[in-house]
Amino acid sequence: MEREDGRLDALIIGGGPAGLTAALYLARFGRRVLVADAGEPRAAWIPASHNIPFFGEGIAGPDILARQRDHLARYDIRPVAARVTGLRREAGGFAAVLEAADGAGRTLGASRVLLATGAVDVEPDLPDLPDAVRRGLVRYCPICDGHESRGRRIAVISRGAHGLGEAAFIARTYSSDVTLLTLGQPLALDAAQREVVERNRIQVIEQPVTGLEIRDGRIAALRGGGAEHRFEVLYSALGLHYRSELALGLGAAADDSGALVVDGHAQTTVRGLYAAGDIVRGLDQIVVGMGHAAVAAAHIHNRCELPTEDEADGA
Ligand SMILES: Cc1cc2nc3c(=O)[nH]c(=O)nc-3n(C[C@H](O)[C@H](O)[C@H](O)COP(=O)(O)OP(=O)(O)OC[C@H]3O[C@@H](n4cnc5c(N)ncnc54)[C@H](O)[C@@H]3O)c2cc1C
Repeated sequence: MEREDGRLDALIIGGGPAGLTAALYLARFGRRVLVADAGEPRAAWIPASHNIPFFGEGIAGPDILARQRDHLARYDIRPVAARVTGLRREAGGFAAVLEAADGAGRTLGASRVLLATGAVDVEPDLPDLPDAVRRGLVRYCPICDGHESRGRRIAVISRGAHGLGEAAFIARTYSSDVTLLTLGQPLALDAAQREVVERNRIQVIEQPVTGLEIRDGRIAALRGGGAEHRFEVLYSALGLHYRSELALGLGAAADDSGALVVDGHAQTTVRGLYAAGDIVRGLDQIVVGMGHAAVAAAHIHNRCELPTEDEADGA
């Protein structure tokens, strides 16, 4: 549906599972929508996911994305390969600067914007990390794939006590053999945290790890003096970098880690700017991100001809 002023009803920034879901909903509402995608989805790292409903046999991240793009193409929507490098509010909505890989730029107007730019994992320092992830030796999300690591010898790597919650979750749920590697940072635990370590029989290695290697299909954590610990799976709890800069630039509220705060309509504290997927504070999961996207798309559809709540006559 064309708008008279040529403005989009919605610009979706990010073409991962969340952004593509929002685009599908908006396309089916007959909305004029464009997806700008810089082409580095976290979802592409998933070797095989077994927690996506309807894919009991498992599905790889690239296949999820390809299916979503095929689905969208039925409505004649194809993500545009471009990075959004600027976003500002203007009367009636937003203006966004899109930059293609060859440096060509253009500015688009949109009544509403949905940010689905995701997050990037802080990676452990391992040789040939992509291969280790593909083989399931290195994982990032025990809620996603801890079931596949059930009963294994598992290490959780983090700086200091940050990974204790994740180690305890894995020990409670999947394996009685869990070690927390704190990378040389002493664990200054309070009484409650010590109780968690003891109750879950988590082994703690506070000494620096001088190297991580893959040997005979296992992760070897090396320490000074030639000492070595071997694990079947390593969960990285080194954290995520949230790609929330565009929203923060507009003054959107975020938590300490940079993940965006949204309301029950998936709207950020900047009226008219929505967020879905990993960029939103909460569980970083595909199904959750698709849920945000559906909620945001319905609200955008219901309101995108109206002024935003903070504008004159806005409701
Ligand atoms: C190894 C691994 C295994 C995982 N396994 C599972 C699993 O089994 N089940 C599960 O539910 N989840 C799993 N996850 C998590 C899952 O990948 C994420 O929750 C999901 O990808 C989030 O989707 P998203 O659309 O929010 O972001 P993404 O998939 O990261 O997509 C965001 C897109 O936005 C683009 N972008 C960013 N900034 C801009 C910009 N300025 N302009 C234009 N485009 C931009 C990026 O390039 C990217 O293409 C796993 C993650 C990893 C790393």
